[in-house]
Amino acid sequence: MMFDQLSAALTEVAKNFGGKQRMTENSIQPALKSVRRALLDADVNLDVATALIDGVKRRSLGKEVTQGVTAEQQFIKAMYDELLDMMGGDASQQSNRNPSLQSPVASLAHSPDFATTNKPTVILLAGLQGAGKTTAAGKLALYLKEREVDSDAVKQMSEEERASTLASRLPKRNRRVLLAAADVYRPAAIEQLQILGEQVGVEVFSLGADADPAEIAKEAVEKAKREGFDTVIVDTAGRQVVDEELMEELRRVKKTVEPDETLLVVDAMTGQAAAFLTASFDSAVGISGAILTKLDGDSRGGAAVSIRGVSGKPIKFVGVGEKTQDLEPFYPDRMASRILGMGDVISLVEKASMEVSDAEAARIQEKMVKAEFDFDDFMTQSRMVSKMGSMAGVARMLPGMGNMIDSAQLKQVEQRIKRSEAMIYSMNKKERANPDLLLTDRSARSRLMRITEGSGLSFDDGLAFMSEFQKMRTMISRMAKQAGM
Ligand code: GDP
Repeated sequence: MMFDQLSAALTEVAKNFGGKQRMTENSIQPALKSVRRALLDADVNLDVATALIDGVKRRSLGKEVTQGVTAEQQFIKAMYDELLDMMGGDASQQSNRNPSLQSPVASLAHSPDFATTNKPTVILLAGLQGAGKTTAAGKLALYLKEREVDSDAVKQMSEEERASTLASRLPKRNRRVLLAAADVYRPAAIEQLQILGEQVGVEVFSLGADADPAEIAKEAVEKAKREGFDTVIVDTAGRQVVDEELMEELRRVKKTVEPDETLLVVDAMTGQAAAFLTASFDSAVGISGAILTKLDGDSRGGAAVSIRGVSGKPIKFVGVGEKTQDLEPFYPDRMASRILGMGDVISLVEKASMEVSDAEAARIQEKMVKAEFDFDDFMTQSRMVSKMGSMAGVARMLPGMGNMIDSAQLKQVEQRIKRSEAMIYSMNKKERANPDLLLTDRSARSRLMRITEGSGLSFDDGLAFMSEFQKMRTMISRMAKQAGM
């Protein structure tokens, strides 16, 4: 499974800190050595690994271990921060604050409207044969075509993003996409794109296999202008290896259509080679970022960790399966959490489950995996958590969490749980069992208004709770899957 090997190694390293109270050069050295080995085993680029280790050392050395937090947790937090920076943490933090301006995805999802500029957004896809370029073209078309409120991406949004989407109920993407078949060399590439286009309900423009790729791209853009498509995705040719002919053709297509984004599709299974490939495409043709495919089969993680450090270019999307909906925007913070693993959280949930009957626990577990976790389960869970002791104790068991939570924040968390319970009490039975009625259904807004009024809370409190619940549901389901439940 994704990053298994690296997660397991890093978790093992952190465990060896025991109950140490202070991290020193001596106490930290063996751990750093092991982390370095784990990174190199995962095929992380040597320079990137060295920079990561230096960063973790800088962040950890000489720091008193915070009260209530173990050295292990502090070390995990340092690794988390370093991984985040290495994969482009800044961009993601900004995206949470202002999704319409900063996000690497935003330039695709929220670029100026066709109506106001009369120029469609043009996205050029490049890559070596077999990297998953044609599949990515279909996936990206579907992603941009979907209304944002319908998609998985919304379920993984930050609180603010989610709340603002819910509040406005406005579709953020909903774009009219045209796919252009400019891979004229690989046999059957055009047919493959046409089949994909049909699957996702997007028109495919083609001039057959004898036309010039630059000409195809140009005519696709003209057709888009004429017929009101606001986005054109151009699938260009791939080769077995990087060669000058391929680069020259790409430069020509690029010059002809002046794309808003030139994305290189790279295969995660090739590890750090994907990072070098990104760098060489960038110096030869100039790219704006990468789409990292086949992450679902990548147990090592070398590509995800190295691409930005080696090439300076961000990963913008990741492919996580063969189906057309298996594309996710790349968020460095979520990726860093995945790499570090969430195993401790799983055991925490399991421990909590022991407090209820086995049958009840099995029922909830099954719902978690299917992401059907509803408000009734939320209540059961939060009662189990209170039975297990104060929130403080529980929160400190979460990896990397202990040192981020102080007692004032904990009070807030406890208050939030109380507010959540008040809201759940104001829901009717149907709503408690069907969270989607309050999240994505047409009636969500009016229902939420009624419920917040009934529980004496503000509508904003309601939105905040919904976004938290949604995040929790997604996270739990992901953790459950990772634990093979
Ligand atoms: P192209 O030659 O670059 O256009 O590659 P294709 O789009 O034809 O993809 C090559 C193979 O990789 C196909 O079998 C795809 O189904 C598979 N593939 C593409 N993306 C992913 C992904 O994210 N996950 C998995 N598991 N397979 C993928």
